[in-house]
Amino acid sequence: MTTTAPAGEDRLTGEQRELRARAREFVEEVLMPLELEAERLGGRLPAERIAMIREAAIARRLNGGRHAVEHGGQGWTMLEWFLVNEQFGRVTNALHWHVPNAYNVLASGTTEQIDRWLAPALRGEAGGDAYAVTEALAGSDATAIETTARRGDGGWVIDGEKWFVTSGDVAAVLIVMALALVDGERLPTLFLVEPNAPGVEFVEDPQFTHNYPHGHPTIRFTGVEIAPEAVIGAVGDGEALQRTWFTEERLGIATHGLGAMWRLLDETTAWACERVQGGSRIIDHQGISFPLADSATDATAGRLLALHVAELIDAGADVKLIHAKASMSKLFVSEAAGRCADRAVQAFGGRGYMRSNVAERFNRELRVDRIWEGTSEIQRLIIARALERRGVERTIQ
Ligand SMILES: Cc1cc2nc3c(=O)[nH]c(=O)nc-3n(C[C@H](O)[C@H](O)[C@H](O)COP(=O)(O)OP(=O)(O)OC[C@H]3O[C@@H](n4cnc5c(N)ncnc54)[C@H](O)[C@@H]3O)c2cc1C
Repeated sequence: MTTTAPAGEDRLTGEQRELRARAREFVEEVLMPLELEAERLGGRLPAERIAMIREAAIARRLNGGRHAVEHGGQGWTMLEWFLVNEQFGRVTNALHWHVPNAYNVLASGTTEQIDRWLAPALRGEAGGDAYAVTEALAGSDATAIETTARRGDGGWVIDGEKWFVTSGDVAAVLIVMALALVDGERLPTLFLVEPNAPGVEFVEDPQFTHNYPHGHPTIRFTGVEIAPEAVIGAVGDGEALQRTWFTEERLGIATHGLGAMWRLLDETTAWACERVQGGSRIIDHQGISFPLADSATDATAGRLLALHVAELIDAGADVKLIHAKASMSKLFVSEAAGRCADRAVQAFGGRGYMRSNVAERFNRELRVDRIWEGTSEIQRLIIARALERRGVERTIQ
């Protein structure tokens, strides 16, 4: 495999370069050798392999990324998180999902919630968390959710059904967005629900295009009683917490997409320089070299945009501006990575259609990045709203 020098090198401290090198070594030595096995097994590696990945990630201090050191995380800046996630994105089959981590909203929990759910997840001891907002009638419009939480016998009672709950099949705790019915109001609130609580039913575990480590089941909640303290933050904090979740998830998708483009360029360039047809290397045909040039341009532009967002977050910029910029980076990179994977398949010819080929796998896997955490259309709505409300100059600079 050839290597490409990452942009923005001069911005990094020695420690940040060391962190990136550590993440890269982990990805290349531990995760990449498992890609084909994961693909063959529909994404589900045997337990001993998962344990090995977790141990290796913890030994290399790659678990818990942005979470605070006192909670068992690494306390990375967003730039440092970016550098590691870009490496994680270079691997197919989402094998980095096995690196112990948890959604950022858990850090807003009480000390007891952190000790019970967050810290064990970062140590890789429990099944981690899953985040459930989407419903049958509430997808792009998350405000249309109908799941409710009413006051019960000293606690809350949850009723509703959530769709596409990523990792819901393995999670130790479900983070459920529901409308808390309080004094005639319907207040969006995040609740912690244990998957084995009476009234939690796994309705379906559908198959999807990718072969990833976990499923995305449909989960129904019927009169599920939970304790009064099973709320993250305060009642009514759900939307604000969810915005911080979306921002990080969207930038994460962009960052993984950049890693994917990096790997696709590495593999496709090497192949195009080596493959000879009709007496010349295929890279000498512009039909092959020009799409590669377009992919390199996409990768570089996307990287600068996502780095810009990471640096804005580290600088404590206005959260609304960051929200719009995170949408831009997710929109641009998810679409660019899709184009890049499609071009790579074409450059590999018939080999690009084999599941053993990285371009084939990425071509399937990257598709969902234009759908989850808000479709491309929803990102465009957010960006257009920023233009309208905050003006062109603030939005694009
Ligand atoms: C593999 C996978 C994993 C997922 N994981 C999770 C998870 O862990 N937790 C979770 O809560 N959800 C999860 N989701 C759900 C995901 O976030 C939604 O699928 C996504 O937000 C789109 O919602 P929808 O599928 O209902 O499509 P819809 O909202 O029905 O949209 C259908 C189409 O209409 C377009 N559209 C909708 N509204 C507008 C508009 N106003 N303007 C223009 N176009 C519009 C959309 O862009 C889309 O093209 C997951 C989905 C998948 C596929």
